[in-house]
Amino acid sequence: MQKLTLDSPVLNVQGIGDKKAAAFSALGVSTVGDLLYRFPKAYQNRGDAVSLLQAASLDGECCSMILTVAGAPSTVTLKGRITITKFPVFDESGRCTAVFFNQPYIKNAVSLGATYRFWGKLVYKKGKWELVNPQFEAYSEKAALPDFVAVYHVGRSVSQKLMRSTVVSALSSLEPPPGVLPHAVEERRGLIPLCRALCEIHIPSDMQALTAAKRRLAFEELFIFAVAVKRNKEASKRSCSGTAISVDRSATERFISSLPFELTGAQDRVVCEILTDLEKNSAMHRIISGDVGSGKTVCAAAAVFAVVSDGRQAALMAPTEILARQHYEDLDRMFAPFGIKTALLSGSLSAKEKKEIREKLKNGAIDFVVGTHALISESTSFYNLALVITDEQHRFGVKQKSALESKGPSPHVLVMSATPIPRTLALVLYGDLDISVIDTMPPRRKKVSTFLVDESYRSRLDGFIAKCAGEGRQVYIVCPAIDDTSDDETEEEYQEKSPERGNDAGFGSGTSGSRVKRAVEYAPELAKKLPGISVGCLHGRMNPRDKEKVMEEFVSGRLSVLVSTTVIEVGVNVPNAVLMVVENAERFGLSQLHQLRGRVGRSEYKSWCILVSNTGNEESLARLDVLCRTYDGYKIAQADLEQRGPGDFIAPSVGAVRQHGSAGFHAASLCNDISMLNDAFSDAEELLKNDPELLKKENSAIAAATDALVQLS
Ligand code: ADP
Ligand code: MG
Repeated sequence: MQKLTLDSPVLNVQGIGDKKAAAFSALGVSTVGDLLYRFPKAYQNRGDAVSLLQAASLDGECCSMILTVAGAPSTVTLKGRITITKFPVFDESGRCTAVFFNQPYIKNAVSLGATYRFWGKLVYKKGKWELVNPQFEAYSEKAALPDFVAVYHVGRSVSQKLMRSTVVSALSSLEPPPGVLPHAVEERRGLIPLCRALCEIHIPSDMQALTAAKRRLAFEELFIFAVAVKRNKEASKRSCSGTAISVDRSATERFISSLPFELTGAQDRVVCEILTDLEKNSAMHRIISGDVGSGKTVCAAAAVFAVVSDGRQAALMAPTEILARQHYEDLDRMFAPFGIKTALLSGSLSAKEKKEIREKLKNGAIDFVVGTHALISESTSFYNLALVITDEQHRFGVKQKSALESKGPSPHVLVMSATPIPRTLALVLYGDLDISVIDTMPPRRKKVSTFLVDESYRSRLDGFIAKCAGEGRQVYIVCPAIDDTSDDETEEEYQEKSPERGNDAGFGSGTSGSRVKRAVEYAPELAKKLPGISVGCLHGRMNPRDKEKVMEEFVSGRLSVLVSTTVIEVGVNVPNAVLMVVENAERFGLSQLHQLRGRVGRSEYKSWCILVSNTGNEESLARLDVLCRTYDGYKIAQADLEQRGPGDFIAPSVGAVRQHGSAGFHAASLCNDISMLNDAFSDAEELLKNDPELLKKENSAIAAATDALVQLS
């Protein structure tokens, strides 16, 4: 028999003629590789066969049964079109009728007295038990059938059966393909060979083997990607020299121990990664990724400390006034005891103040500046800027970031992620950055109890707000709109599309019964309902000075309730706030809601997040329900990605992110294990250390595989 390789056309697979090959081609499958890398979407466990008696109690659930044909099949034709083919089957526990619609050929596919393994639902119809449209395979005690049967994403042109039989046929004559994974990597990570993995992913012998196959295939995919990213990065690094910082480790240690808490292990590791980068004479390009409240800021602070201690300047750019001010206050408090001169440069300062700060930045009198877009204005220049940090970077365009970076001679660049991003996606988005993940939360963080309620809960909610305020705690209320000029938030710094336009049938059409809450109208309305409780209002169209005044009042506790738009979403820290109410919650993305929820639960007080939604849209409700059940930002981001697609994550970042074809990351997505990703990257590094250009013969397969990816970026 002709041996197949992954490059052989599907046409060469036994049993495939022109017609079937064309059907596969319509599915995007033209080679054996395309076929075998089309992994199953699910598996039916047909191994645990039940008796007919047991099946009857399964309530129409799919199950596997070993049954013998008790009578000859007969076919009747209804209305000249529909055919029904029936035959009786039995096992020791009972009997029933197997019924097939529009499959007259079944008649010739079964033999009287033969035994088959059936897969289907047993239903009770008109006083009789029927097995409707089951699948079946010849059964014998001697030759065991596979327990797991793959289910594929197939179009209309290819049936599950054809897909399965073609896969089986291809696998049986497949020449073991040369895996792209170096043998040493396979060995180190305990991965099974590619050929076995391909067999097991399609026809698993058992759960364990399936897991091993998934691991192998996922690792391979991640490894190819890692090598591609590293090759790209190396190429850009060679042309990107930087200034090595002489890091005073013991001084930095003293700074860290001056903090009112101990760093978590994850923070410790991230700080270490950053300091090591700073010491190199190629510029750092690193992102800190971590869930809301994981403590990214202090990691950045350690970097600032190290740079400033070496006599150079650092800058931190935040997307909003409020956040910039808060960072400034927190960081100034940390740095002041060490004599570090910190300044705030933002739009709300007077022209005179701005001028003064700019002068001091230019002559080096200020060591560290925190600011908004004001930092990148042409009139801002630095004495010796060596570190640039952007917070919540997805709010900034590439141009804005590079504008800041151009203020120093190739400064080190550190980015703090706004929100957890699924890892596979982070690699695509931040391919040019090294990633540091803070994967543990600071201790004593309480889960924020999250509930989804509708309008009928309104008076209880008002009561709850009053109760929280009465106990001296504070409350955030987030509305999707500012006023009636627009239904959408139109912050100047912040423009995120409404997640549900045209998706939630109830929205905007007046059929959902609840209007979009507008901050400007709702704040006075609430104030009237809750006499004696101070209610403030904050939104992005207020001028910076007013915004700051309101925020200041809330931070200081003079305001109990803050009705706002998502302008408070990012980073703001008011530990005394214990309740976050989100109005028209269906209009927000999950990750965004998770960010909002992260504003509370920042103290020892019990905290709540109440999502108010009157939507009748099942999908929206299911989406919001994810938030009530899940507190892990990465899982939420993953759900967001699955439900809303990658557009939201990708759109704000670097332009040319293209799809990697249908092969995509489907294997990698089977794995949500961060350690595997790290392993893949460290193995890739090792490979490139020994063969930077991938010129060695044994690396030709990985070179070819990554070439395809490198060209994409
Ligand atoms: P994010 O990662 O969301 O930017 P922050 O850096 O604002 O989080 O940190 C959130 C809060 O947790 C801050 O009040 C910070 O002081 C505190 N924090 C950070 N690290 C720790 C730690 N190791 N132990 C206790 N609290 C910490
Ligand atoms: Mg932050």
